[in-house]
Amino acid sequence: MVHSRRTFLAAAVGAALPSMAQEIAVVDIHQHTPYTGRSADQLLEHQKVMGIAKTILLPAGRAYSLAAGIGGNEAALALVKRYPGQYYFFANELPDISETRDTLEKYLKQGAIGIGEQKFHVDCDSNHIDLVALIARDYGVPVLLHFEYNAYNLHFTRFHKVLERHPKTNFIGHAQTWWANIDAAHDQTVLYPRTRVKRGGYTTRLLQDYPNMYADLSAGSGLNAMRRDEEHAQWFLDAVQDKLLYGSDCSDRVGKGDPCSGWQQLELVRRLAPNPVALRKILAGNALRIMRLG
Ligand SMILES: [Zn+2]
Ligand SMILES: [Zn+2]
Repeated sequence: MVHSRRTFLAAAVGAALPSMAQEIAVVDIHQHTPYTGRSADQLLEHQKVMGIAKTILLPAGRAYSLAAGIGGNEAALALVKRYPGQYYFFANELPDISETRDTLEKYLKQGAIGIGEQKFHVDCDSNHIDLVALIARDYGVPVLLHFEYNAYNLHFTRFHKVLERHPKTNFIGHAQTWWANIDAAHDQTVLYPRTRVKRGGYTTRLLQDYPNMYADLSAGSGLNAMRRDEEHAQWFLDAVQDKLLYGSDCSDRVGKGDPCSGWQQLELVRRLAPNPVALRKILAGNALRIMRLG
C-alpha cells in the first residue's frame, strides 16, 4: 500500500516536470515609456498580457526621443519607483555633449542597471562611445546600442575594436544592422533582409569570439532574424545560447498576436530553442547573470 502510494507520487512529480520547465519568469530587457503615445498604465497591461516578470525600461537622451516618442530618464525612474523588483531602468544621454557623464552618473547612482539605448548619430568606434564604455565599466553595467546603417552607431563592422579596447565592459547589440549581420553574405544597405542566412556573419563572430558581446532579440529586426531562416535560427539559438537576451521593444497596446512583435518573438524562441535549459538562459538566466535584477 505504502509502496504503491510512493510510486504514484513519483509518477505525479515526473509528469509535472515538463510543464514546470515552461514556466520561466521571463525578463524583457527592452521596453520604453511613454512610447509613441502609449501610457505607463498601458505598458503595464501590455507586459502583463505577454507574461513578463521583470521589465527593463530604456530611456531616450535629452534630444531626439530615440526618434519614436520615447520618454527620458525621469519617466522611466518614476515607474521603477512604483514597481520595485518588477521594473528596472537604464540611464541614457547623448554620448557627444558636455553633460554626458553627469547625466549618466546621476541616474546610475539612483539605481540604473545599464546605459542605453544608445541610438545616436556617432561612429560606433568614436571617442564618444569610449566615454560611455568607461562609465559603464566603472559602474559595472552593460551598454545597449542600436546599430543602424547610415543612421546610428555608424561603421558597425569596426565594432570589434571597441570590444577589444573595453574588455571589462559588456555590450548588448540591437536593431537592423546588428541583426542583418548574422549573415556572412549581408549587403550593408539592406535593413530587413529576407534571404536565407549564410552562417558566420560579423554579428555571430562578435558573439562567439568576444566574451563581452551580447545580443538583444527585440523588435522587428530581431524577429526577422529568426523568421527569415528558421533552420539557421535553430542553430544560432543553440550556438550562442549564453549570449542572447530576450527583449520586446514593441509599442502596441495589445501584448499578443499580430500587432505585438514581442509576443511573436517569445513564441518563436520557445518553439526554436534547442532545449529547456537554453530557453531559460535566453528568456531570463543570461540577463540575471549580467545585470543587477535582484
Ligand atoms: Zn527601443
Ligand atoms: Zn507588444
